[in-house]
Amino acid sequence: MFDKILIANRGEIALRVIRACREMGIASVAVHSTADADAMHVRMADESVCIGPAPSSASYLSMPAIISACEITGAQAIHPGYGFLSENAAFVQMVEDHGITFIGPRAEHIRIMGDKITAKDTMKNLGVPCVPGSDGGVDDVEAARKVAAAIGYPVIIKATAGGGGRGMKVAQDEKGLEVAFRTARAEAKAAFGNPDVYIEKYLQKPRHIEIQVFGDGKGRAVHLGERDCSLQRRHQKVLEEAPGPTITPAERARIGQICAEAVAKIGYAGAGTIEFLYEDGEFYFIEMNTRLQVEHPVTEAIFGVDLVRQQILVAAGYEMEFRQEDLSIRGHSIEVRINAEKVPGFSPCPGRITQYHAPGGLGVRIDSALYDGYSIPPYYDSLIGKLIVHGRDRAEALARLDRALGELIVDGIDTTVPLFTALLQEPDILAGNYSIHWLERWLDHKFG
Ligand code: ADP
Repeated sequence: MFDKILIANRGEIALRVIRACREMGIASVAVHSTADADAMHVRMADESVCIGPAPSSASYLSMPAIISACEITGAQAIHPGYGFLSENAAFVQMVEDHGITFIGPRAEHIRIMGDKITAKDTMKNLGVPCVPGSDGGVDDVEAARKVAAAIGYPVIIKATAGGGGRGMKVAQDEKGLEVAFRTARAEAKAAFGNPDVYIEKYLQKPRHIEIQVFGDGKGRAVHLGERDCSLQRRHQKVLEEAPGPTITPAERARIGQICAEAVAKIGYAGAGTIEFLYEDGEFYFIEMNTRLQVEHPVTEAIFGVDLVRQQILVAAGYEMEFRQEDLSIRGHSIEVRINAEKVPGFSPCPGRITQYHAPGGLGVRIDSALYDGYSIPPYYDSLIGKLIVHGRDRAEALARLDRALGELIVDGIDTTVPLFTALLQEPDILAGNYSIHWLERWLDHKFG
């Protein structure tokens, strides 16, 4: 087993990994920018190294700085968290070339899934059902017209290098296609340096259902059911739950097995998420994330497993601690993302936390790097915490969420907490009756 792991990340996810390390008797190294010198992950790790100035391009994304930090501290492995370098195949290659272990899948699998056209092709060949759409990339408007006519409007034009909901444009009809096509390409070029796009049928009222998979890198893999992440704003998740309120055990077993077999076949190592849109009883693959997800705690809650511990075990060459038959679901879990943002505009709201009180009690978990007096720097993601509740069933989880939100105090800045308090008054939310478009429609209706 590793003696020391470096965490190439910040915020709550860095804490999450440090906690797993500590329970496993592994020393942890935090890296940080100058803006994060007082951050919680720096305080909680056994050692820390400053790797550069505030902008992430010069610190959390600086590959040489991170590798040097490993060499200076003698860390044998790197956990990338999510975001930053977690899905960067070149980084994985560089890490391994320096004799350091990357806690995650092989560079080759990150590369395949990082290009959405290749990912879709690969998944299709592995027997995973996909959204109807273009066969590969679409290079010009004429070709786009042909594909759209064949699959039928509305269509969505998506960047092959896409992520975070950027580079995606919907065309309702042929009139809107040219503008959508050109805007998607321009956005993709600006955001990812790669203008390539592909086309999919735009589903009208799907749910976003994702399957958690876990592979040992030697051809064995399991699935840990689904998460429903349909509550989204601008294609960004705001609340996630597991199990999915509409998914039956038979559907779970069927799609779960397809996913586990697919990743087993390619010899995938570690945690991964296969994302689907789900409509009228059918699953349609959209992308695979080759890392730990923000919303992994809801899966941990209902299966009673520590996914980060499993990631570390597998990366160190050990067996994962469960087989498919050991995995069963207990109860229901919901996570809400607490962002430093002002509702309803969702404008970022960094600043100093004057008072912080975390909720507690049975079935309540807070993953957050906040503390009294902490100043949230303006340079990074606005996610400042995740509140995760677990109950015997969905009704209990909802009641617990309401109770825990009531106990939470984050003073000094605006957060998304009022959004969740309001959502818990909505019959559709209480009934689990929502598609990926529900939240934006609700926001429009409520706040115009
Ligand atoms: P990203 O990597 O940028 O997050 P995804 O492919 O995962 O992009 O899609 C993000 C979200 O965009 C989905 O959860 C869904 O809300 C919406 N979306 C993507 N593809 C489609 C589609 N074919 N039809 C309808 N909505 C879609």
